[in-house]
Amino acid sequence: MRVKAIALLSGGLDSSLAIRLMLDQGIEVEALHFVSIFNATAPEKPSLLRPLRVARQLGVPLVPMRFTAEQLALLRDPAHGFGSQMNPCIDCHMAMLRLAAERMRETGAQFLVTGEVLGQRPMSQRSFVLHQIAKDTGLGGLILRPLSAKLLPPTIPEEKGWVDRERLLDIYGRSRKRQLELARHYALTEHGSPAGGCLLTDPGFAARLRDYFGHLAGAEPDLNDLHLLKYGRHFRLDAATRVIIGRVHRENVTVYTFSRPADLLLTTRDAPGPTALLRCATVGLSDRAAEAESARLGKPAVALLRGSESDEHIRTAAALTARYSKLRAQPLVAISVTPGRSHPGPASRVIEVAPSEDAAADERRIGA
Ligand code: SF4
Repeated sequence: MRVKAIALLSGGLDSSLAIRLMLDQGIEVEALHFVSIFNATAPEKPSLLRPLRVARQLGVPLVPMRFTAEQLALLRDPAHGFGSQMNPCIDCHMAMLRLAAERMRETGAQFLVTGEVLGQRPMSQRSFVLHQIAKDTGLGGLILRPLSAKLLPPTIPEEKGWVDRERLLDIYGRSRKRQLELARHYALTEHGSPAGGCLLTDPGFAARLRDYFGHLAGAEPDLNDLHLLKYGRHFRLDAATRVIIGRVHRENVTVYTFSRPADLLLTTRDAPGPTALLRCATVGLSDRAAEAESARLGKPAVALLRGSESDEHIRTAAALTARYSKLRAQPLVAISVTPGRSHPGPASRVIEVAPSEDAAADERRIGA
């Protein structure tokens, strides 16, 4: 019977090569890909597309694993802290390995494979951290890291002779030179760029996420909100209210698609302009209750819930919308204001506003 391993496959080069090295040694491999809202993929591309292509090129089965809930739980208070942004890499990696270990037991696989490279990432790929991860997950010598194996103590698959240590590698550090040579050697073409991957490491996204968590006021994070953090420019008007403005057509469509009946959508009436979304966290009411009330009265919830203050917010959102339109040099710009998608209420109205000054826009901007 062939020895079987479960491998973590991000879709990047390192995890692809780690699997390739195992296949070279006759190991049967099943690849796991962790699917999360924080995976960085272009909006028009499903996050599974790349790993599916990589798995097909390698000729291994791919099992997608839902991972958003685990990552969200980790973001509250990661035991090993964050990396340079909102990335709790050590705890995140441990969570992945624990899930992979469950899969290993379910499928009767003998060990786990990862594409980690010693010294490549400052937080999670230092020697003592790799050791700590193996210890804390209870997986000990069952985790094989083929790209750096010769720099690490022998693992169980090596000791048992399932894998020949001499045919493993000793790659260290951030240079991708050897990996790129190997990719050419193995004619691997489907892997993603080295920089791609995880939005939690992106400074702009991390700033927006920090701001979002900082204003949740005890509420649970909302998937629609989290998706929206990936697109457009974000502005905070007060603790409960934000504006999101699309930067390009694709983002305008996304902003519209994610809008809810309780939101307001704004855009320029007389020239091409961005789509902006004004969202109030509806303090004291759940979204569902706010939407039901909004639909019953035929008014957007943002206006219902915030009284006269909301008019100020609508004007600020309109001024920001004008600022990012082609009419930004005009003294006054007509902005259409409509309820969010699927709202059964009134048609749009138009307000005229002066475009926001750069300094005022910058002051409200969240992240860059
Ligand atoms: S980069 Fe993102 S997905 Fe990878 S270990 Fe860190 S937090 Fe987790």
